[in-house]
Amino acid sequence: MQRSSSWTCKVHLYALLTILVASAVTCGITVPRQTIQELVSKALVESLATKQRDLLDDLIDDYDDSQNYADESLGRDPEEMPGFYEGDMAGVNDELARVGINFLKFPSRKWTNNTVPYIISPLYLPDEYMIIKTAVRILNFFTCINFRDWDGVEKDYLIFWPVEKPAGCWSYVGRLGGPQIVSLQQPDLKSAQCFAGVGRPLHETMHALGVYHEQSRPDRDDHVKVEKKNVIRGFLSNFDKLDTKNVSAPYKYDYDSIMHYGTTFFSKNKKIATLVPKQKGKSIGQRINLSKLDCLKLNSLYGCLDESPFSKRKYETICEFLGL
Ligand SMILES: [Zn+2]
Repeated sequence: MQRSSSWTCKVHLYALLTILVASAVTCGITVPRQTIQELVSKALVESLATKQRDLLDDLIDDYDDSQNYADESLGRDPEEMPGFYEGDMAGVNDELARVGINFLKFPSRKWTNNTVPYIISPLYLPDEYMIIKTAVRILNFFTCINFRDWDGVEKDYLIFWPVEKPAGCWSYVGRLGGPQIVSLQQPDLKSAQCFAGVGRPLHETMHALGVYHEQSRPDRDDHVKVEKKNVIRGFLSNFDKLDTKNVSAPYKYDYDSIMHYGTTFFSKNKKIATLVPKQKGKSIGQRINLSKLDCLKLNSLYGCLDESPFSKRKYETICEFLGL
């Protein structure tokens, strides 16, 4: 009896949530269809321009032809699939990659006044919408960066949109100027894609804030070993390091970072390791939540620790809550 009433309650709650979310999306400001089409075409051209896109497509076709692709363990990680620089970072060429996240040198890549207007696609289902909202709220809570609803007028804003091609989870790095997409593929029969939890939306949004992958730090060879022979041919450049001159890395190397590759990223058969931690017992590639250092890193990057002694103490204390 108790079980049945709790189930009914859940159904009611879900219905209520659906109505609330649907109205929030449909009554809100929408992005012109043409803007989305232009942005998607631009992203597709960029992804096709990287040789990796074709290589990865071939690889996925091979899996389709020869394996039971429904077995998720054989599939590609949704951060590898887009075929951009290092898998999921759009609009990055080698030169840009090496400029990294040093906002002193490239101030235009930083979001103005630490404010990020955003809009979520109405194509997302209520639970996917809520996961994206949660990621944004986490960033608002743990940092002085302010994500808020786009007012329909501001020039620079993020659009969370499930782009079909290139599929997967991907983002541009830092502020581009104008509308910019963070693409999160919706779940399908093969896998949860970008929505197994809040981790992947957080990861891609951190790229949009200007953060690169942890293992591309200049000092990474002291902490992880790249097993070059196990990397898919043509993808070794995904394991390049960034230039010391251009990257801000004020914190110690972070195995727990949500921005770190997993052990088998870009592995020839998805089972052999491409990246091995040098410290025994460490695991890498978590997509659960920000680590303590991710939190500090973002606050440092956006000047939250420099605003005042109070602000510094506040955000350092808040970051301590993150257990990783
Ligand atoms: Zn990434």
